[in-house]
Amino acid sequence: MTDAEVLAFDRAHLWHPYASPVNPPPVFLAERSAGTQIVLPDGTELTDAVSSWWCAAHGHNHPHIVEAIHRQSRTLSHVMFGGFTHRPAVELTQRLIAMTPEGLDSVFLADSGSISVEVATKMAVQYQRATGHPGRCRMLALRGGYHGDTVGAMALSDPEGMHTLFAGLIPHHFFADQPSIAVDGTWNEAAFDSIRTLVEAHTDEIAAMICEPVFQAANAMWFYHPMFLRRMRELCDEHGLLLIFDEIASGFYRTGPRWAHTRAGVAPDILCIGKALTGGHLTLAATVTTSRVAHGIAGGTPGAFMHGPTYMGNPLACAAGIASLDLFAASDYEEKARGIETQLRAGLAPLAARENVAAVRVLGAVGILELRRPPRAEDVRAVILEHGVWLRPFSNIAYTMPPLITPPETVQKIIGALDAVSALPPGPPLPTDGFHE
Ligand code: PMP
Repeated sequence: MTDAEVLAFDRAHLWHPYASPVNPPPVFLAERSAGTQIVLPDGTELTDAVSSWWCAAHGHNHPHIVEAIHRQSRTLSHVMFGGFTHRPAVELTQRLIAMTPEGLDSVFLADSGSISVEVATKMAVQYQRATGHPGRCRMLALRGGYHGDTVGAMALSDPEGMHTLFAGLIPHHFFADQPSIAVDGTWNEAAFDSIRTLVEAHTDEIAAMICEPVFQAANAMWFYHPMFLRRMRELCDEHGLLLIFDEIASGFYRTGPRWAHTRAGVAPDILCIGKALTGGHLTLAATVTTSRVAHGIAGGTPGAFMHGPTYMGNPLACAAGIASLDLFAASDYEEKARGIETQLRAGLAPLAARENVAAVRVLGAVGILELRRPPRAEDVRAVILEHGVWLRPFSNIAYTMPPLITPPETVQKIIGALDAVSALPPGPPLPTDGFHE
């Protein structure tokens, strides 16, 4: 097949994320990737400014991770986790327990971020039922949030988004206002009223509260004050609700500290992690909880936790995870994120003066331009090719979340591409379908 034939077949038969199945926007043909670069068949190199949806923290095709997958594939590529265990799952779990907050020591290995969120919500509901609260089977989530595309996870994401499209299918949860105070803003207790009021009015219906700590990623691209998390912890304790932190996007140093929630000095009852867990090499996520939750579930009927994916604990993915954690342990990733932050702050701040830029936000290795109106897709594509930088703006947001190993000169190149996007003429007004990444 020629490259053109591959692309034509793709266009006719393959569905892509958030795209029309019959008239999709053009895609690039990726031939190989290494470090920060994705290489096309004609040798064109694109710097991956979004870490392939925020997972390639150590860069693409990292030799240490690739070798670990190869090594594992020679002995045990897969075995069902019902009735078996294996060393990669046990070693990965030991490492995860050691690097998550004290008390989180019970791990469910899930096969994607969305599934880890589904698992977290099922844990919360089973826990409440098992401990004498069968009526507590709904969740409290935040406006502006995003937790995944499966039906259960979508139901926890911003209700202005895909909810309208799937009305009738998705379960109804409680939504509090989007946290209104920025990460570096001045705390004001009144900002917490929306969450408190909902919890007080519906205590007997709510199993757990879920949020993306500090960094609302795929929907709002917004950094909020850590005091919200502290207040949520207090409120959950006061009313017997569980607290779920979804660190799938914010975890593994993306905003600076290893976990974004440590800024608040509190821990969740359930923690969801994914994306950078395998450094972007194989799909794997984890739902980590406390022995209190595990024992609570075990003490109810049926006593078992009712979830079990076919590829649960896949050994190749676990081996990739262990190797990724080796890399996180081998150098100071917080320092790397801080270095990128300093550079993004300096490079993106001047863009706030552009006519089409409504706001610039930077935290850790995340740089966000909120545009007044998104430019046309074909203009963005021209910038991508001209600058050799892969960007994927969505809605009115242009952003970078580069691999954490991205060297300063490459960060500079990414800033140059964002500069060019910010200077593009605005396209037609946004459709109001609230789609997100
Ligand atoms: N939670 C958050 C915070 C996410 O950012 C994402 C993915 N963007 C998910 C859940 C879903 O993860 P996945 O795409 O692996 O299902």
